[in-house]
Amino acid sequence: MLNQEVYDKVVSEFAAKFGSKPQVVAYAPGRIEVLGNHTDYNEGYVFSAAIDKGTFFAVSPADDDTVTLVALDMGETYATTLGAVAPIKSGMTWANYPLGTFNWLFGGKPAEAGKGFKAVFGGNIPLGAGLSSSAALEMAAALALQKVYGTSFDRTELAKIGQKAEHTFAGCPCGLLDQASSMYGQSGALVKSDFRTNEFEAVPMGDGVAFMMVKSNAKHALVDGAYASRRQACEDAAKHFAAVLRKGGVTHLRDVTMAEWVLYRGGLSETTAKRAVHPIGEDERVLQGAALLSKGDLKGFGALMYDSHESSRNWFENSCEELDAIVDAAKAIPEVYGARLSGGGFGGSCCLLVDPAAADKIAAAIAREYKAKFGDEPTCSLIKPSEGAHLI
Ligand code: ADP
Ligand code: MG
Repeated sequence: MLNQEVYDKVVSEFAAKFGSKPQVVAYAPGRIEVLGNHTDYNEGYVFSAAIDKGTFFAVSPADDDTVTLVALDMGETYATTLGAVAPIKSGMTWANYPLGTFNWLFGGKPAEAGKGFKAVFGGNIPLGAGLSSSAALEMAAALALQKVYGTSFDRTELAKIGQKAEHTFAGCPCGLLDQASSMYGQSGALVKSDFRTNEFEAVPMGDGVAFMMVKSNAKHALVDGAYASRRQACEDAAKHFAAVLRKGGVTHLRDVTMAEWVLYRGGLSETTAKRAVHPIGEDERVLQGAALLSKGDLKGFGALMYDSHESSRNWFENSCEELDAIVDAAKAIPEVYGARLSGGGFGGSCCLLVDPAAADKIAAAIAREYKAKFGDEPTCSLIKPSEGAHLI
């Protein structure tokens, strides 16, 4: 469904349900990760983009202390009161995202809101597909509820409120990337995030290119354990470099250069050294990528994306044969500038930098190669970096 159609549906369902127009409507998009893999918990850099799909959240204050949430995409309504706002353990768990956001807008004391609210929301991001529908819902709710209640948090603070909702209500220990990308996205631009300073910056890349997300059908077991062991290796390596580097001030891999890794990797186990070089290289690639984008060098930026995948494949070992096949197929297509796995890895999606005019040809070629190897077809969707969260 187009964004305009989603908006129309949300507003008309609100009127049908509550007998009046919503006082406020807000929109927030999902996101893709473009460069900078497993760098967030190493206090490094990430390039991401807001996508052209999102969630609309329509809301009016209630006359009393009731809170009513209507999820159009679920066909369900959740109702509670200010005094009873709490994480939902089973059943309508979708309500945790807007409810948790509301809870932390008031510092965990929702009764201080004074009055409840009634809301209707819906979107067009596929749920649970790695495009961050959950952050889109939180950020749309945050902007709309902030307007209704007159709070005055800035965008980064609202992003952190959404993150806190994920941690404490939805039970997902996520970083800040999803919410920040939704908040700071701009049309034709990437979002450059610095996860040490929590600074977020839109970096223009022009309207002539787009991304294609290629969703593999790979689902690999042991993902949680593999993720935890990667994270542990990064922490162990940071401790090693903190001990051996005389320059001081080393707390995370963010503080270690590739040259230092080459010189001092000998003190690490072979596996830990391999893991550590990935976020170190990714940080350097994001900074190089920013310089290339400022010169309009999209081919150069794409080359960094291929390097990123090679680093995942050989060093961090968070790729798999399905993702490798997609990237290898991409390399043979001239209208693809770069490709890499996106997100945690071990399955999921690849992100390709493409000439949008050739999108159909690219999708067909990738699908053909993938099908020949694995028997089924991946899902390809063209994504243009788009505007971030805003009030309508
Ligand atoms: P992702 O954020 O990658 O899409 P998550 O598992 O983090 O995946 O979040 C998906 C969950 O967010 C859904 O299962 C649902 O509970 C909630 N959600 C997101 N968007 C909506 C929506 N439009 N309507 C209802 N629930 C939603
Ligand atoms: Mg999510």
